[in-house]
Amino acid sequence: MIQREITLCLHGIGLPPPHVDHVENHYWCDEDVFHTILDGVAIAQSTGTVRVRLTFDDGNLSDLTRAAPALQERGLSAVFFVCTGRLRRGGPYLGEADLAALEAMGMEIGCHGRDHVRLRDVSDRVLREETAGAKVALEHALGHPVAEYVLPFGNYDHRVLHALGGFCRIHTTDARAGRPGERVVNRYCYSRAWDTDALTRILSEHPRRLRSARTWARLALKRNRPGRRASRRSQT
Ligand SMILES: [Zn+2]
Repeated sequence: MIQREITLCLHGIGLPPPHVDHVENHYWCDEDVFHTILDGVAIAQSTGTVRVRLTFDDGNLSDLTRAAPALQERGLSAVFFVCTGRLRRGGPYLGEADLAALEAMGMEIGCHGRDHVRLRDVSDRVLREETAGAKVALEHALGHPVAEYVLPFGNYDHRVLHALGGFCRIHTTDARAGRPGERVVNRYCYSRAWDTDALTRILSEHPRRLRSARTWARLALKRNRPGRRASRRSQT
């Protein structure tokens, strides 16, 4: 019986392209480490007590060239979250044809906004463009509905969650396990700070931790905090 759901977040795989600065570089994953992670996930899934969901943020070209083939080799799939403002930029980012190629490989596509901005800081008009607007644009590019959204920088509050009402699943970077079927999803984000035991620790997190009142109170407060721009809504 599935007791827990663990969602992992990855970014680029392999050698980062030249535009990647040292901050973003911290979240890129070397290819051999990536393969070790996937092997660990495949073994954990086979136990039947934990469901591991894999997600990839930012729409890097390595999603198609590195990640998807390695997933396919292991019979795994993932959701790839793209920014609609990058789809026609080319270069290091996925284009519309690449999204179709990922879907043909059994992968899913989700929305990561339009321009990858901190949603707590934007006006109501920009917030609509980054949420509902990006959903429409991505659905037009794919030709079918999009149900999942990743919050850029994991940045959110109550106003942001409210604006994402059209999505069935909203992914944070709150590093906790979760319960199957939750709409606001916790995710563990890979970074170069992970040691060799990091994945094992995450996958074996004891279910008792999930029931910690302190943990859930902290997350509930975060999800219900009022928007920073609440008093400025009428200006947009
Ligand atoms: Zn991102």
